[in-house]
Amino acid sequence: MSPLISDVRACSICGERYSGDGNAAKPLIDGRCCDRCSLEYVIPVRLEELRAAKREATLGQNLRAVLATGSGLKWREPLRR
Ligand SMILES: [Zn+2]
Repeated sequence: MSPLISDVRACSICGERYSGDGNAAKPLIDGRCCDRCSLEYVIPVRLEELRAAKREATLGQNLRAVLATGSGLKWREPLRR
């Protein structure tokens, strides 16, 4: 096999061929993808995960702050008719 052909791989997302190392397609899928799919699919998913992780961290901080003030949170049973 010539080095030129072995350097060409199929994108794990769109199936298009690309040459070179490609990009890690995690966390979307376990594999490698072309530059276009990385930009269009993989990076947005990573950013969204990052935002979700930040939201959770903020939520945890707020909860700790509420507990620290001693005001507490009381779970209310949903009203029944
Ligand atoms: Zn692709």
